[in-house]
Amino acid sequence: MPDPNGFLRYDRRLPARRPVPVRIMDWREVYPPAGPELIREQATRCMDCGIPFCHDGCPLGNRIPDWNDLVRTGDWDAAVGSLHATNNFPEFTGRLCPAPCEAACVLGLGGQQPVTIKQVEVEIADAAVARGGLRPRPAPAPTGKSVAVVGSGPTGLAAAQQLARAGHAVTVYERDDALGGLLRYGIPDFKLEKHHIDRRLAQLTAEGVVFRTGVNVGVDVTAEQLRAEHDAVLLACGALQGRDTPETPGRELRGVHQAMAHLVAANRVVAAAGEERPAPATLPDGTPIDAAGKHVVIIGGGDTAADCLGVAHRQGAAGVHQLDLYPQPPVDRDAARDPWPTWPWLLRNYPAHEEGGERVFAVAVQEFVDDGTGQVRAVRIVEVTVEKRDGRRIVTVLPGSERELPADLVLLAIGFEGTEEQPLLAQLGVTRNARGAVDARPDWQTDVDGVFVAGDMHRGASLIVWAIAEGRAVAAAIHSHLGGVGALPAPVDPARQPLAAR
Ligand SMILES: Cc1cc2nc3c(=O)[nH]c(=O)nc-3n(C[C@H](O)[C@H](O)[C@H](O)COP(=O)(O)OP(=O)(O)OC[C@H]3O[C@@H](n4cnc5c(N)ncnc54)[C@H](O)[C@@H]3O)c2cc1C
Ligand code: SF4
Repeated sequence: MPDPNGFLRYDRRLPARRPVPVRIMDWREVYPPAGPELIREQATRCMDCGIPFCHDGCPLGNRIPDWNDLVRTGDWDAAVGSLHATNNFPEFTGRLCPAPCEAACVLGLGGQQPVTIKQVEVEIADAAVARGGLRPRPAPAPTGKSVAVVGSGPTGLAAAQQLARAGHAVTVYERDDALGGLLRYGIPDFKLEKHHIDRRLAQLTAEGVVFRTGVNVGVDVTAEQLRAEHDAVLLACGALQGRDTPETPGRELRGVHQAMAHLVAANRVVAAAGEERPAPATLPDGTPIDAAGKHVVIIGGGDTAADCLGVAHRQGAAGVHQLDLYPQPPVDRDAARDPWPTWPWLLRNYPAHEEGGERVFAVAVQEFVDDGTGQVRAVRIVEVTVEKRDGRRIVTVLPGSERELPADLVLLAIGFEGTEEQPLLAQLGVTRNARGAVDARPDWQTDVDGVFVAGDMHRGASLIVWAIAEGRAVAAAIHSHLGGVGALPAPVDPARQPLAAR
């Protein structure tokens, strides 16, 4: 029986982050472990309210009150089992998920701070490794069916693990030289050290999953070959088409780049450096894209922008401005706009924001300014108001509010426009919808029989928790399509949306 008064005895507390002056000197993760006493105390704050809305907040349907109580009573082995029953990769979500479950925690109804669900999750995930490692669970017998998974991000990996454990022969094709999708070269090490991915890959390999890196499906292998060799194909290619701003004067200047170009280059030099100090980051053609000594302007307000900020400081930027078109959000939930248990619009301070830089809200870029040699030297901005009218975004400029910010490096982190147009799609006869995503029928098949889609490629740029949830659900659909015995868990269907008030 959980402690019904735990939340009255203990306040919400998280472990202190590593000090800023120390952590920006390296690329290691920002959070140290919580320690057994703190985590037991925080798990005790979960009262097992009876109708756990956190389950609905979490797309995976993680059994949060169950594992909170197992941590409270010290039954770590059972907690590890309970968590892995619904989540293939809790070490990723425990580190990276924005935790919509916490926004839906019933404690929030009475004005209390939510349980530190995500922190408990990561401690259980790390306990799994400490207590005997991630043991492989190979299938008892093969089914004789084979599945091709295109893309090795969290969607592809979750689906591959579920299918391999059900006895199917799974081959994951990845065009990059290393596996993990955005977890590998998109998200920096200070949010996710890469040994977490490698440990899971070793488990999947031991479970029979075959990985083929450096294979761009549609170029190195045709869709026809893939279909001939496998009984089903899963497309899990992500939503990597970065939004651009070609109409802004000066976009062509040297020093103006897509945020992902910056992040991938930085992650690659960190990966190559091992214990050494990383070399300055460059693009594949040798163009420098390192922030060292530069005035950096990041355009955008989301995860990608915050990651660029943390990278810029670690590379030794002279100064960083982060620009947002929208006004500064409130610090507390606006219950009229986003009632509990929905995900509220709030000012989100990522650890990278503690490390320096200036956030500038309610501004638009009018021009990237040339230094006379074709290199950007400044960004000309103007204050704006933004309103929605008839579903359209109307941006109004405040006259006389123009100013320049110094800029040697400008990074566009203004979102993604769906999955990339690539030869694979035409070869399969799969089309992108108006959002640049690929639609799925209720059984996760595209318009082409035997070809399935899931994750960001289906949903548009989203979150790791949704990627894993869709990966698990599409695996259940493929298993059933192949005539597999029994049913695999399917936490979401293709139409499922986050909790919303309207
Ligand atoms: C910078 C950044 C930071 C983020 N931070 C967070 C965060 O903190 N928390 C969070 O929850 N989410 C975060 N996200 C979102 C999250 O990373 C994605 O939602 C998630 O990775 C989607 O998983 P996926 O498997 O669908 O696609 P991806 O991870 O994008 O993987 C797709 C893979 O498919 C491969 N591929 C594509 N086409 C082919 C082909 N033809 N042949 C072979 N391989 C192919 C690609 O190379 C890629 O490896 C972030 C995203 C970005 C960009
Ligand atoms: S995966 Fe995300 S939403 Fe689900 S329990 Fe973990 S932190 Fe919460």
